[in-house]
Amino acid sequence: MTKNQDNKAESTALVVAGYGRRGKIHTSEGDYPFLCKGRRIRPVCGDIVTWTKNEQEKDAVVDAVNPRQNELQRSGHRGKPEVLAANVDMIFIIIATQPKYDPFLIDRYLAAAGNMDCEAVIVLNKCDLSNGENILGEYSALGYRTLKASAKSGTGVDAIEELLHNKSGLLVGQSGVGKSSLINALVPDADAAVAEISEASLEGKHTTTASMMHPLKQGDGWLIDSPGVRDFLPYIGDTRSVQAGFIEIARAAEQCRFANCQHLREPGCAVKEQVESGDISQHRYDSYKRLYHMTDDAKLKP
Ligand code: GDP
Ligand code: ZN
Repeated sequence: MTKNQDNKAESTALVVAGYGRRGKIHTSEGDYPFLCKGRRIRPVCGDIVTWTKNEQEKDAVVDAVNPRQNELQRSGHRGKPEVLAANVDMIFIIIATQPKYDPFLIDRYLAAAGNMDCEAVIVLNKCDLSNGENILGEYSALGYRTLKASAKSGTGVDAIEELLHNKSGLLVGQSGVGKSSLINALVPDADAAVAEISEASLEGKHTTTASMMHPLKQGDGWLIDSPGVRDFLPYIGDTRSVQAGFIEIARAAEQCRFANCQHLREPGCAVKEQVESGDISQHRYDSYKRLYHMTDDAKLKP
């Protein structure tokens, strides 16, 4: 513990819920609601903050947010990026065969995770219904970690807990794939806690960016969750980041004739050559082009 400029005892804590200028911190003595000092501070779950205990008020006061290792950014109001969480170690991309997975969505999440320097794990849920071998094989061949799970039978839940050892992660994916079912297996009271946060944040009108972090039932990991996190669509703002998000395209790009090749219509493009030879799959290239055209700088190009 150190002293701040007002000579108050100051310590650091983990933010486990954030909505606007309020939220909750986790400390060794328990969890406290907090309020931010200053207008510029916007802690989100996963942040490490410095705080002081105010004797008169029941809330803790957060003075500063430590530099972030990464930010989970989604495409928010009018396409502006919004930060939902910070310091995320792992993103679990949940897919299923019913409803059938969307390869573009998988690639979009993988690209976002790659740009955040965050590990991505593709989880095929509902493996009690079908084993979906082909799709997992394709991604594991690219070097991504994959696993099978079933929220119904409990298969794979312990594997997720193990991967989250000392880490924080979140589950993303399209509706109906079983995210809520898996979250409830990992954190039994997750839904009740999210409802509580939604209610509290409604007053502050921050429902869309409110997020929270739960300790896992087993093990020592954290699960980031909120209605906005479960169906989050990532923000990827520039074409360079899109390329960086496709490992095999970034690798092939080193052989393109032009250093600034966008792999669209340029001559001597090694990426297009590898798509033609089948070394890069057509659907991954299609996802690349689709994400490329969704960025702000592609829209500005003639
Ligand atoms: P979410 O929309 O991604 O949160 O999906 P839910 O957790 O609400 O699940 C959607 C439906 O799939 C529900 O009817 C679940 O009971 C069902 N479901 C979830 N996980 C499994 C699973 O592992 N196997 C089977 N057979 N059904 C599942
Ligand atoms: Zn190229």
